[in-house]
Amino acid sequence: KVPEDCPLDIQELGSNTWSFLHTMAAYYPEKPNEQEKKDMTKFIDLFSKFYPCEHCALDFQHSIKKKKPDVQSRYSLSDWFCQQHNIVNRKLSKPEFDCSKVLERWRDGWKDGSCD
Ligand code: FAD
Repeated sequence: KVPEDCPLDIQELGSNTWSFLHTMAAYYPEKPNEQEKKDMTKFIDLFSKFYPCEHCALDFQHSIKKKKPDVQSRYSLSDWFCQQHNIVNRKLSKPEFDCSKVLERWRDGWKDGSCD
């Protein structure tokens, strides 16, 4: 097993980054103002340019051009990131995630109380 204090590999970088992106979306305002919408759009654009895995970043840039970030609300942004993650899951032959459960996974905890 590689020690914990080593540089991230592509999987560790990915799962840590998805944790951050989904959690950020889950705490995005329910009703963002125009400035917040602009800022989130800009953040995603810049993120896609600086994500430190070159082929991942290039694919993500293409993907967000095809389906533009939906920054209208917490729910729409969380759903958009979930769909983007599913695009990568499909590419890597990983199971798809049910996006209707994205806020349970990343904000509220599962309805069965297992995260309480
Ligand atoms: P991850 O896919 O990292 O998922 C972490 C957790 O998120 C899961 O345990 C699950 O609970 C939850 N989850 C899964 N799917 C969803 C979803 N759709 N919505 C919400 N939550 C979900 N790797 C490559 O090899 N090639 C690439 O081109 C590539 N591109 C990437 C692009 C981006 C923008 C990012 C952030 C990562 C990319 N990765 C890529 C990394 C890859 O997506 C995985 O993070 C990595 O393979 C580790 O996978 P994992 O099995 O640990 O789970």
